[in-house]
Amino acid sequence: MDAASPPAPHIDRRSAPTPMMAQYLAIKEQAGDALLFYRMGDFYELFFDDAVKAAGALDITLTKRGKHLGDDIPMCGVPWHSHESYLARLIKAGFKVAICEQTEDPKEAKKRGSNAVVNRAIVRVVTPGTLTEDTLLEPGRNNFLAALAVEGDVGALAWADVSTGELYWRRTDRTAFAGDLAALAPAELAAPEAETAVAWREALGEARAATCVSDLAAPFFSARRGEERLCETFGVASIDAFGTFEPVDLSALGSLLAYIELTQVGRAPALRPPRQASADAAMTIDAATRASLEIVRSSGGGKSGSLFWAVDRTVTAPGARLLASRLSAPLTDPAAIAARHDLVSAFVDAPSLREAVRTLLKGAPDMARALSRLTLGRGGPRDLSALAQGAQNAAEAAIALSADGGAGPLGALAATLNPQTDGGRLAVLAARLDKALKVDPPLLARDGGFIAKGFDPGLDEVRSLRGEADRHVANLEAKYREATGLKGLKIKKNNVLGVFVETPPGQADALSAPPHDATFIHRQTLASAVRFTTGELADLDGRIARARDEALARELDLFATLTEEAAGCADEIAATADALAQTDVAAAAAHLAATEDHVRPTVDDSLAFDIEAGRHPVVERAVSAQGAARFVANDCRLSEDGAPLLQLVTGPNMAGKSTYLRQNALIAVAAQAGLFVPAARAHLGVADRVFSRVGASDELAKGRSTFMVEMVETAAILNQATPRSLVVLDEIGRGTSTFDGLSIAWAAIEHLHGENRCRGLFATHYHELTALSETLPRLRNVSMRVREWKGKVVFLHEVGSGPADRSYGVAVARLAGLPSGVIKRAGDILKMLEADRRAGPGVDALPLFAAAPSENAAAQQETTDRSASDLSALAAALADIDPDALSPRDALDTLYRLKQLSGDG
Ligand code: ADP
Repeated sequence: MDAASPPAPHIDRRSAPTPMMAQYLAIKEQAGDALLFYRMGDFYELFFDDAVKAAGALDITLTKRGKHLGDDIPMCGVPWHSHESYLARLIKAGFKVAICEQTEDPKEAKKRGSNAVVNRAIVRVVTPGTLTEDTLLEPGRNNFLAALAVEGDVGALAWADVSTGELYWRRTDRTAFAGDLAALAPAELAAPEAETAVAWREALGEARAATCVSDLAAPFFSARRGEERLCETFGVASIDAFGTFEPVDLSALGSLLAYIELTQVGRAPALRPPRQASADAAMTIDAATRASLEIVRSSGGGKSGSLFWAVDRTVTAPGARLLASRLSAPLTDPAAIAARHDLVSAFVDAPSLREAVRTLLKGAPDMARALSRLTLGRGGPRDLSALAQGAQNAAEAAIALSADGGAGPLGALAATLNPQTDGGRLAVLAARLDKALKVDPPLLARDGGFIAKGFDPGLDEVRSLRGEADRHVANLEAKYREATGLKGLKIKKNNVLGVFVETPPGQADALSAPPHDATFIHRQTLASAVRFTTGELADLDGRIARARDEALARELDLFATLTEEAAGCADEIAATADALAQTDVAAAAAHLAATEDHVRPTVDDSLAFDIEAGRHPVVERAVSAQGAARFVANDCRLSEDGAPLLQLVTGPNMAGKSTYLRQNALIAVAAQAGLFVPAARAHLGVADRVFSRVGASDELAKGRSTFMVEMVETAAILNQATPRSLVVLDEIGRGTSTFDGLSIAWAAIEHLHGENRCRGLFATHYHELTALSETLPRLRNVSMRVREWKGKVVFLHEVGSGPADRSYGVAVARLAGLPSGVIKRAGDILKMLEADRRAGPGVDALPLFAAAPSENAAAQQETTDRSASDLSALAAALADIDPDALSPRDALDTLYRLKQLSGDG
């Protein structure tokens, strides 16, 4: 969406619009940048620019209606009864939509005069972050609305899922913001207008590329008002119970609540008290790493192909949402991680109980979303029945889980599934709803017919009147047949005539003639039938209609009462919904572990990283789906004697380097998220951050060259990785010329080794880097095993110790189908180059024993500025060097000599 408000329709106050147009324009002004759905009878109409935009986005006809300032007014409309599908398309296309309803009966308006306009008002603004309808939401994904408040460099993020009631907040800053936002992936971000957050302009600019940003004016961010709002929303006198808040936190939470209030127009969703998402409690994963590891979304943007996709065995939508959020924010506290693993273990050890619980959960509804719709006045009978059903499923699951006496983690889970607060208030509500509602009630309350017989005596009585009327009709039919002697006479009913007498055309004349014409009044002649009414029938019709209205009113009353009762149980419902989701996730994780051979990892406070026979969950699925080969499992050790190690992974393209790198990062993410892992054994020291980068990924859309992106991202890692971090760098330095790239990769490894001192995996096609292991004690060379057979390469996908023997590029090119002439010529050139390299200085002569890594890069840069003569002197000196013959001491001396030659010594 255009974040700056698009121009409102041109309004010229000097002209005198019709009263309706004046009303429209006034309401449109309130709607701001949202399209205005203006209710007229059975349609929502759009006018002016709104109509043009909507007609384009929806591919519907643009018409015109009347004139404004002498010009035609563009108009389009969508039918009220099917507006949700249009709404969904507009929201997807990035629009917001303000829904304006008639707020009085048109008959009332008429009383004010024939020209009076029906009162209308905006009842809701539909925005991407405030959706609640199942038709507009993805079941297995949270739909977060986030708000950012800033105070200098410090920011606070608050976020809520209006459809489930979850509410969180955390502190952020300009550097962390992009990562925090990527972790949340909100559908919408409410943020301060540009002029009030100048320092954040760049950060917010990037956010706009990732999500829909709605600008809010400064008053939204008043911390004092925020505190008041929090107290009002949760009915407390002081917010101390929810934690310690700085003003910036209060402005974030306050602006979020204010924006919800604004869009829901006074209706409040059942939000839960705010929970602080502590920065330390979760593994930090920045936006680039999320994209590179494809944690909950693959590079295509969807779930398919992501880690989430590969490990999701949940059977409910809330379970899927919980699993996605756990994968997005893996834990860092070993005890909390172990608690999740304990639960999975318990389900692994009890396969039949697990299956029983999973079968039970398959029918469990989305209680949180149902409750949210009900409290926002958008719920229906089906939502009420979802609450009853969910509570019942939870109670049944609790019974199953406490079968062995309720001990251990499963027993504890059972207790949360069946909360006994207030004497089992939820169970009482569920029983009541169960009694109140018919089986499979309709989605909407408006047509009635959902309250079960026997629940409300008043309703049953009104309904029995209707039943009586039916019997009465049958009696009348018999009576009229007898009186007229017409066997073909029937009493029927439709929406236009109500109840009527019908005869075949041939028999109708008898009814229009004396004596029957005194009783039967002609209403309609059709080709196949003639229809009459009678005084008795008209009376009966009236009674039927009144009984229907009365019954409907009674049902709607009951619906409102039941909804209120449900809202009164919001805390228990939320807790039960959470417990159901947790049960689903744990049982699903156990099911995955049991069926896909995943094991419980040991996660502790050490710096260990020891994986035996690890696998890449996504590639493994893809490989087994192809049915051709088996995924080859590989070990990975990134620690020795308690100290972190770096692995340098070499091998030809397509040998499996990237797969190996990522699988180890993914195993760490899955383990800390509380899942078992695809390996034979895993011992991991908690990683505080995981970084993953692929060299030279294309981000030209953001206006940076690919190489610039690569360097910015590498810089972020080198500046932020701690000894607790896990760093995965794939082909860094690829985006520039060979020497540049090699030097940068070289220096980056030295920095990771000497400064960051983290656990890391570094894949490269620069063979020269393998020599680094001679000088860096905690660097290990490993390579992807490859076999050459009859001039062809065979990838074994096996990681072995030691560097790759050579690069196999030409062999891979053959595999890719390059013409044989090109392959042969490339082979010849390679031989020549390799011979050259052996004969004189080449890439191997790079400064193995250079001083500080940072100076390395600087020296390289300067080379380009030298004059041609300097360069030729240098070249001659270089040509004299035989690197293989130099001792370390000689090499250093040579370096000094070269520096002198360059005029810099
Ligand atoms: P590289 O990074 O070395 O170019 P990739 O990691 O992209 O190689 O792997 C290329 C392909 O090889 C993968 O798409 C996958 O099909 C296959 N592959 C990689 N690792 C394995 C493995 N361990 N077992 C089986 N197949 C693998």
